[in-house]
Amino acid sequence: MKLEIKNLSKTYPNGVKAMQDVSLTIGKGMFGLLGENGAGKSTLMRTIATLQDADTGSVTFDGIDVSRDPVALRKILGYLPQEFGVYPSLTAEEFLLHIADLKGIAKASERKAQVDALLKKVNLWEDRRKKLGGYSGGMKQRFGIAQALLGEPRLIIVDEPTAGLDPRERNRFYNLLSEIGENTVVILSTHIVEDVSTLCSDMAIMGNGRVLLEGSPARVEQSLKDRLWMKEIAKPELERYSKEFKVIASHFHLGKLQVTIDAEASPGDGFQAKTPSLEDVYFQILSRNEQPQRTAALATE
Ligand code: ADP
Repeated sequence: MKLEIKNLSKTYPNGVKAMQDVSLTIGKGMFGLLGENGAGKSTLMRTIATLQDADTGSVTFDGIDVSRDPVALRKILGYLPQEFGVYPSLTAEEFLLHIADLKGIAKASERKAQVDALLKKVNLWEDRRKKLGGYSGGMKQRFGIAQALLGEPRLIIVDEPTAGLDPRERNRFYNLLSEIGENTVVILSTHIVEDVSTLCSDMAIMGNGRVLLEGSPARVEQSLKDRLWMKEIAKPELERYSKEFKVIASHFHLGKLQVTIDAEASPGDGFQAKTPSLEDVYFQILSRNEQPQRTAALATE
Protein backbone atom coordinates (compact mmCIF):
# COMPACT_ATOMS: atom_id res chain seq x y z
CA MET A 1 0.00 0.00 0.00
CA LYS A 2 1.52 3.32 -1.01
CA LEU A 3 0.73 6.77 -2.25
CA GLU A 4 2.89 7.93 -5.14
CA ILE A 5 3.07 11.61 -5.93
CA LYS A 6 4.99 12.38 -9.09
CA ASN A 7 6.13 15.74 -10.42
CA LEU A 8 3.09 17.75 -9.30
CA SER A 9 3.07 21.42 -10.25
CA LYS A 10 0.37 24.02 -9.77
CA THR A 11 0.31 27.73 -10.54
CA TYR A 12 -2.79 29.61 -9.39
CA PRO A 13 -4.35 32.17 -11.77
CA ASN A 14 -2.77 34.96 -9.69
CA GLY A 15 0.68 33.59 -10.59
CA VAL A 16 1.49 31.92 -7.24
CA LYS A 17 3.47 28.73 -7.81
CA ALA A 18 1.96 26.66 -4.99
CA MET A 19 3.57 23.34 -6.09
CA GLN A 20 6.77 23.03 -8.08
CA ASP A 21 7.67 19.52 -9.21
CA VAL A 22 6.58 17.82 -5.98
CA SER A 23 7.40 14.10 -5.82
CA LEU A 24 6.93 11.91 -2.73
CA THR A 25 6.38 8.23 -2.03
CA ILE A 26 4.40 7.66 1.14
CA GLY A 27 3.95 4.21 2.70
CA LYS A 28 1.89 2.87 5.60
CA GLY A 29 1.97 4.75 8.90
CA MET A 30 2.02 8.38 9.86
CA PHE A 31 3.73 10.75 7.43
CA GLY A 32 4.38 14.34 8.53
CA LEU A 33 4.35 17.14 5.98
CA LEU A 34 5.99 20.10 7.64
CA GLY A 35 6.14 23.64 6.31
CA GLU A 36 5.40 27.25 7.10
CA ASN A 37 2.10 28.87 6.18
CA GLY A 38 2.01 29.32 2.42
CA ALA A 39 4.47 26.47 1.72
CA GLY A 40 1.93 24.65 -0.46
CA LYS A 41 0.82 21.90 1.95
CA SER A 42 -2.93 22.48 1.62
CA THR A 43 -2.66 22.70 -2.15
CA LEU A 44 -0.96 19.30 -2.14
CA MET A 45 -3.50 17.87 0.35
CA ARG A 46 -6.45 19.13 -1.71
CA THR A 47 -4.94 17.68 -4.88
CA ILE A 48 -4.54 14.25 -3.25
CA ALA A 49 -8.09 14.52 -1.87
CA THR A 50 -9.41 15.09 -5.45
CA LEU A 51 -10.71 18.57 -4.59
CA GLN A 52 -8.54 20.31 -7.16
CA ASP A 53 -6.33 19.38 -10.10
CA ALA A 54 -2.64 20.01 -10.54
CA ASP A 55 -1.38 21.51 -13.82
CA THR A 56 1.01 18.61 -14.36
CA GLY A 57 2.05 15.40 -12.61
CA SER A 58 0.17 12.46 -11.15
CA VAL A 59 -1.01 10.92 -7.89
CA THR A 60 -1.68 7.20 -7.56
CA PHE A 61 -2.77 5.19 -4.54
CA ASP A 62 -2.75 1.41 -4.74
CA GLY A 63 -3.33 1.42 -8.46
CA ILE A 64 -5.95 4.20 -8.40
CA ASP A 65 -5.02 7.19 -10.58
CA VAL A 66 -6.48 10.05 -8.54
CA SER A 67 -7.19 12.45 -11.40
CA ARG A 68 -8.62 9.74 -13.69
CA ASP A 69 -10.74 8.01 -11.08
CA PRO A 70 -11.53 10.47 -8.27
CA VAL A 71 -14.67 8.55 -7.28
CA ALA A 72 -12.64 5.42 -6.49
CA LEU A 73 -10.23 7.43 -4.37
CA ARG A 74 -13.00 9.20 -2.44
CA LYS A 75 -14.35 5.80 -1.39
CA ILE A 76 -11.20 4.96 0.51
CA LEU A 77 -10.33 8.49 1.66
CA GLY A 78 -10.79 10.12 5.06
CA TYR A 79 -10.11 13.87 4.98
CA LEU A 80 -10.00 16.47 7.73
CA PRO A 81 -9.54 19.80 5.93
CA GLN A 82 -7.89 22.86 7.44
CA GLU A 83 -11.17 24.76 7.54
CA PHE A 84 -13.62 22.20 8.79
CA GLY A 85 -17.15 23.63 8.82
CA VAL A 86 -19.90 21.98 10.83
CA TYR A 87 -23.65 22.57 10.82
CA PRO A 88 -23.95 24.27 14.22
CA SER A 89 -27.55 23.24 14.80
CA LEU A 90 -26.91 19.50 14.30
CA THR A 91 -25.68 17.22 17.05
CA ALA A 92 -22.47 15.22 16.60
CA GLU A 93 -24.49 12.03 16.30
CA GLU A 94 -26.87 13.46 13.66
CA PHE A 95 -24.04 14.89 11.60
CA LEU A 96 -21.97 11.68 11.69
CA LEU A 97 -24.98 9.58 10.66
CA HIS A 98 -25.53 12.00 7.76
CA ILE A 99 -21.89 11.77 6.65
CA ALA A 100 -21.99 7.96 6.96
CA ASP A 101 -24.92 8.06 4.56
CA LEU A 102 -23.01 10.30 2.13
CA LYS A 103 -20.02 7.97 2.34
CA GLY A 104 -22.25 5.20 1.05
CA ILE A 105 -22.62 3.04 4.16
CA ALA A 106 -25.95 1.66 2.99
CA LYS A 107 -27.34 -0.20 6.00
CA ALA A 108 -28.77 1.92 8.83
CA SER A 109 -27.63 -0.59 11.45
CA GLU A 110 -24.08 -0.47 10.06
CA ARG A 111 -24.13 3.36 10.07
CA LYS A 112 -25.27 3.39 13.69
CA ALA A 113 -22.66 0.82 14.74
CA GLN A 114 -19.79 2.77 13.14
CA VAL A 115 -20.98 6.13 14.46
CA ASP A 116 -21.39 4.79 18.00
CA ALA A 117 -17.94 3.19 17.94
CA LEU A 118 -16.29 6.37 16.64
CA LEU A 119 -18.04 8.64 19.14
CA LYS A 120 -16.63 6.46 21.89
CA LYS A 121 -13.20 6.35 20.31
CA VAL A 122 -12.89 10.14 20.09
CA ASN A 123 -14.33 10.55 23.57
CA LEU A 124 -17.47 12.42 22.50
CA TRP A 125 -19.98 9.78 23.53
CA GLU A 126 -21.26 11.79 26.50
CA ASP A 127 -21.63 14.88 24.29
CA ARG A 128 -23.09 13.12 21.26
CA ARG A 129 -26.48 14.78 21.61
CA LYS A 130 -25.11 18.30 22.07
CA LYS A 131 -25.23 20.74 19.17
CA LEU A 132 -21.93 21.12 17.32
CA GLY A 133 -22.23 24.92 17.54
CA GLY A 134 -21.50 24.64 21.27
CA TYR A 135 -18.40 22.44 20.90
CA SER A 136 -14.95 23.74 21.93
CA GLY A 137 -12.09 23.86 19.39
CA GLY A 138 -10.67 20.58 20.67
CA MET A 139 -14.05 18.85 20.59
CA LYS A 140 -14.59 20.04 17.01
CA GLN A 141 -11.21 18.61 15.97
CA ARG A 142 -12.01 15.27 17.62
CA PHE A 143 -15.34 15.32 15.84
CA GLY A 144 -13.46 16.11 12.61
CA ILE A 145 -11.29 13.03 13.08
CA ALA A 146 -14.37 10.90 13.74
CA GLN A 147 -15.93 11.95 10.43
CA ALA A 148 -12.63 11.34 8.63
CA LEU A 149 -12.49 7.79 10.04
CA LEU A 150 -16.01 6.87 8.94
CA GLY A 151 -16.12 4.13 6.33
CA GLU A 152 -12.76 2.69 7.43
CA PRO A 153 -10.60 4.68 5.01
CA ARG A 154 -7.19 3.41 3.87
CA LEU A 155 -5.86 6.88 3.10
CA ILE A 156 -6.33 9.58 5.74
CA ILE A 157 -5.36 13.23 5.31
CA VAL A 158 -5.39 15.66 8.21
CA ASP A 159 -4.52 19.26 7.36
CA GLU A 160 -3.18 21.42 10.24
CA PRO A 161 -5.23 19.56 12.87
CA THR A 162 -3.59 20.87 16.05
CA ALA A 163 -3.38 24.60 15.25
CA GLY A 164 -5.30 26.45 17.93
CA LEU A 165 -5.56 23.53 20.37
CA ASP A 166 -4.38 23.95 23.95
CA PRO A 167 -1.64 21.52 25.13
CA ARG A 168 -4.09 19.09 26.79
CA GLU A 169 -6.35 18.91 23.77
CA ARG A 170 -3.32 18.54 21.54
CA ASN A 171 -2.18 15.57 23.60
CA ARG A 172 -5.59 13.97 23.37
CA PHE A 173 -5.52 14.51 19.64
CA TYR A 174 -2.06 12.91 19.38
CA ASN A 175 -3.33 9.85 21.25
CA LEU A 176 -6.23 9.58 18.88
CA LEU A 177 -4.10 9.86 15.75
CA SER A 178 -1.60 7.33 17.07
CA GLU A 179 -4.42 4.78 17.42
CA ILE A 180 -5.33 4.89 13.74
CA GLY A 181 -4.88 1.42 12.27
CA GLU A 182 -1.49 0.19 11.14
CA ASN A 183 -2.84 -0.68 7.76
CA THR A 184 -3.49 2.90 6.71
CA VAL A 185 -1.55 5.71 5.07
CA VAL A 186 -1.96 8.84 7.21
CA ILE A 187 -0.67 12.24 6.07
CA LEU A 188 -0.45 14.91 8.70
CA SER A 189 0.16 18.39 7.36
CA THR A 190 1.37 20.88 9.94
CA HIS A 191 3.58 23.88 10.67
CA ILE A 192 4.17 22.56 14.21
CA VAL A 193 7.44 20.63 14.51
CA GLU A 194 6.30 18.86 17.67
CA ASP A 195 3.37 17.27 15.79
CA VAL A 196 5.83 15.52 13.51
CA SER A 197 8.47 14.61 16.11
CA THR A 198 5.77 13.12 18.37
CA LEU A 199 3.84 11.14 15.82
CA CYS A 200 5.54 10.52 12.52
CA SER A 201 7.84 7.76 11.36
CA ASP A 202 8.48 9.50 8.07
CA MET A 203 8.34 13.10 6.95
CA ALA A 204 9.07 15.80 4.41
CA ILE A 205 9.63 19.54 4.70
CA MET A 206 8.00 21.80 2.09
CA GLY A 207 8.87 25.42 1.30
CA ASN A 208 7.83 27.68 -1.60
CA GLY A 209 5.93 24.84 -3.24
CA ARG A 210 8.93 22.49 -3.22
CA VAL A 211 9.97 19.45 -1.21
CA LEU A 212 13.09 20.65 0.59
CA LEU A 213 13.91 17.50 2.57
CA GLU A 214 12.57 13.98 3.02
CA GLY A 215 13.31 11.10 5.42
CA SER A 216 12.61 9.78 8.92
CA PRO A 217 12.92 12.36 11.73
CA ALA A 218 15.86 10.39 13.17
CA ARG A 219 17.67 10.33 9.83
CA VAL A 220 17.18 14.00 9.08
CA GLU A 221 18.42 14.87 12.57
CA GLN A 222 21.59 12.89 11.79
CA SER A 223 22.25 15.24 8.87
CA LEU A 224 23.21 17.94 11.39
CA LYS A 225 25.21 15.70 13.71
CA ASP A 226 28.42 17.39 14.98
CA ARG A 227 27.50 20.63 13.22
CA LEU A 228 25.45 22.52 15.81
CA TRP A 229 26.75 24.81 18.54
CA MET A 230 24.86 26.67 21.16
CA LYS A 231 25.51 29.64 23.44
CA GLU A 232 23.64 32.00 25.73
CA ILE A 233 24.11 35.61 24.75
CA ALA A 234 22.75 39.04 25.63
CA LYS A 235 20.02 40.20 23.27
CA PRO A 236 21.93 43.18 21.79
CA GLU A 237 24.74 40.78 20.76
CA LEU A 238 22.46 38.86 18.39
CA GLU A 239 23.12 41.12 15.42
CA ARG A 240 26.87 40.73 15.73
CA TYR A 241 26.56 36.92 16.06
CA SER A 242 24.25 36.82 13.02
CA LYS A 243 26.90 38.56 10.95
CA GLU A 244 29.73 36.43 12.20
CA PHE A 245 28.07 32.98 12.23
CA LYS A 246 25.37 31.02 10.44
CA VAL A 247 22.67 31.44 13.10
CA ILE A 248 19.85 28.99 12.45
CA ALA A 249 17.75 29.70 15.53
CA SER A 250 17.58 32.03 18.48
CA HIS A 251 15.08 31.76 21.24
CA PHE A 252 14.59 32.57 24.87
CA HIS A 253 15.15 29.78 27.39
CA LEU A 254 14.53 30.52 31.09
CA GLY A 255 14.78 34.22 30.30
CA LYS A 256 18.14 33.97 28.46
CA LEU A 257 18.64 34.22 24.71
CA GLN A 258 20.08 31.01 23.26
CA VAL A 259 21.54 31.03 19.77
CA THR A 260 22.16 27.90 17.72
CA ILE A 261 24.66 28.11 14.91
CA ASP A 262 25.65 25.73 12.12
CA ALA A 263 29.42 25.28 11.71
CA GLU A 264 31.62 22.40 10.60
CA ALA A 265 34.06 22.82 13.47
CA SER A 266 33.75 24.21 16.98
CA PRO A 267 33.71 28.00 16.77
CA GLY A 268 35.23 28.30 20.29
CA ASP A 269 34.08 31.59 21.84
CA GLY A 270 32.11 29.73 24.58
CA PHE A 271 29.92 27.75 22.19
CA GLN A 272 28.93 24.22 23.25
CA ALA A 273 28.12 21.24 21.06
CA LYS A 274 24.37 20.68 20.66
CA THR A 275 22.48 17.49 19.81
CA PRO A 276 20.31 18.30 16.78
CA SER A 277 16.54 18.23 17.17
CA LEU A 278 13.97 18.14 14.40
CA GLU A 279 13.30 21.80 15.10
CA ASP A 280 16.97 22.61 14.38
CA VAL A 281 16.76 20.75 11.07
CA TYR A 282 13.57 22.59 10.20
CA PHE A 283 15.06 26.02 10.94
CA GLN A 284 18.26 25.18 9.10
CA ILE A 285 16.35 24.04 6.00
CA LEU A 286 14.12 27.12 6.08
CA SER A 287 17.05 29.50 6.46
CA ARG A 288 18.82 27.78 3.57
CA ASN A 289 15.65 28.07 1.47
CA GLU A 290 15.33 31.79 2.22
CA GLN A 291 18.94 32.54 1.35
CA PRO A 292 18.71 32.50 -2.47
CA GLN A 293 15.67 34.76 -2.37
CA ARG A 294 17.36 37.19 -0.04
CA THR A 295 20.39 37.22 -2.31
CA ALA A 296 18.17 37.70 -5.35
CA ALA A 297 16.35 40.57 -3.61
CA LEU A 298 19.65 42.23 -2.73
CA ALA A 299 20.83 41.87 -6.31
CA THR A 300 17.78 43.73 -7.62
CA GLU A 301 17.89 46.54 -5.03
P1 ADP B 1 -0.02 25.96 3.21
O1 ADP B 1 -1.12 24.96 3.35
O2 ADP B 1 1.34 25.36 3.32
O3 ADP B 1 -0.21 27.14 4.10
P2 ADP B 1 -1.26 26.69 0.65
O4 ADP B 1 -1.28 25.52 -0.25
O5 ADP B 1 -2.52 27.05 1.38
O6 ADP B 1 -0.05 26.52 1.69
O7 ADP B 1 -0.79 27.96 -0.16
C1 ADP B 1 0.36 27.97 -1.00
C2 ADP B 1 0.41 29.30 -1.73
O8 ADP B 1 -0.66 29.36 -2.66
C3 ADP B 1 0.23 30.53 -0.83
O9 ADP B 1 1.04 31.57 -1.34
C4 ADP B 1 -1.24 30.85 -0.96
O10 ADP B 1 -1.47 32.23 -0.73
C5 ADP B 1 -1.50 30.48 -2.40
N1 ADP B 1 -2.88 30.01 -2.64
C6 ADP B 1 -3.53 29.00 -2.01
N2 ADP B 1 -4.76 28.83 -2.52
C7 ADP B 1 -4.90 29.74 -3.50
C8 ADP B 1 -5.95 30.07 -4.43
N3 ADP B 1 -7.10 29.40 -4.42
N4 ADP B 1 -5.74 31.08 -5.30
C9 ADP B 1 -4.57 31.74 -5.31
N5 ADP B 1 -3.53 31.51 -4.48
C10 ADP B 1 -3.69 30.51 -3.59
